[in-house]
Amino acid sequence: LKSNNTINNSKIEVKKTENATYQIYPSRYHRFDRKNTVMNRVTWDSAWKGYQKNSSELLHQLIRSGKKGYSRIDFALRYASGIVYSSYKGGMSRNRIKKYRRSRTTRRIDLPTTKYIFEKVQESKNLIERVARFFGASLVGTCKLNRYWIYQKAKIPREFKNAIVMAVAMDSQGIATSPAVAAGSVTGLGYSKMAFILAGVGEFIRNLGYQAIQCGNDTVLSIPLAIDAGLGEQGRNGLLITPEYGPRVRLCTILTDLPTVLDKPIEFGVQAFCKKCTRCSAHCEANAISSEKNPGETGFSISNNPGVTKWYIDAEKCYLYWCKNGTDCSTCIKVCPYNLKHNGQRQSTTKEFWSSLDERTL
Ligand code: SF4
Ligand code: SF4
Repeated sequence: LKSNNTINNSKIEVKKTENATYQIYPSRYHRFDRKNTVMNRVTWDSAWKGYQKNSSELLHQLIRSGKKGYSRIDFALRYASGIVYSSYKGGMSRNRIKKYRRSRTTRRIDLPTTKYIFEKVQESKNLIERVARFFGASLVGTCKLNRYWIYQKAKIPREFKNAIVMAVAMDSQGIATSPAVAAGSVTGLGYSKMAFILAGVGEFIRNLGYQAIQCGNDTVLSIPLAIDAGLGEQGRNGLLITPEYGPRVRLCTILTDLPTVLDKPIEFGVQAFCKKCTRCSAHCEANAISSEKNPGETGFSISNNPGVTKWYIDAEKCYLYWCKNGTDCSTCIKVCPYNLKHNGQRQSTTKEFWSSLDERTL
């Protein structure tokens, strides 16, 4: 495979591989309990420093302080950007939304009752890619659903054999303001786009007579599935690094019984590059990213899931920094050299970010 992208002036060469680019130790690996993510521990783990702590606690104080990049307008955009993700029931849904408004004509059409039969599985693959792009996905891949990557308590019937993984590229200028609030707005928008894309692609699959479970960060682990689906490799910053956008993507997945051609994982030298490059680790204000040369198999706390070779992120430290910052952080995306592809930017002020919106085509 050819890629026009470069990293440190060398062309990125993307190769397909038979095996995933992570190593899993079945004797030590257990499906992860979602309750142990830091976001969930905030609600129940009274033994943890982050218990009931929230990044929005400092909102009023920060606005009053006049700190650049933390104004009322910046926060207004931050909390508007994720609204579709937070409030739209059709986003992370397992079923067709029963009560959505339908016209008198479409009400009589019930497409999901019969299966559309594809003459060749390649046709369904091409179609899903096109439809995912139609709804706004930047990258699309397919893989067999490895049940290791389903959260421990999520019940997914065995007929959901395949996963369609989609990446949504995020605005580079906004990310380049991190840790300011504008970067969080870009993340929020990424989540809202995920909800929109999932709703559209999921409904399209159901209209062909197949089943679709639409997943954000709720049911499956997106990163290993994205690796299996050939979208990228995992970097030192714990994120999926894609050849096209580096780590500047959000991920969402549809689990389905739709037959399709499966992609293969890809390899383009991320692990070897990360061994030498420690930019994300050096710039992380929380000191949450390892600077060890080699990846390991154990994490820092119950918010990590041991048994897979990777650089583990200290999620507790990361979350506590978000609380101190008054908003989330994307610095480990911003500084990664792979982010600079596709017009990625290294640094931007919030003022420049807002001005850049004038120049965008409508
Ligand atoms: S999001 Fe920010 S605090 Fe968390 S690991 Fe990345 S750089 Fe560090
Ligand atoms: S900043 Fe460097 S070390 Fe960190 S993920 Fe990107 S390439 Fe790897």
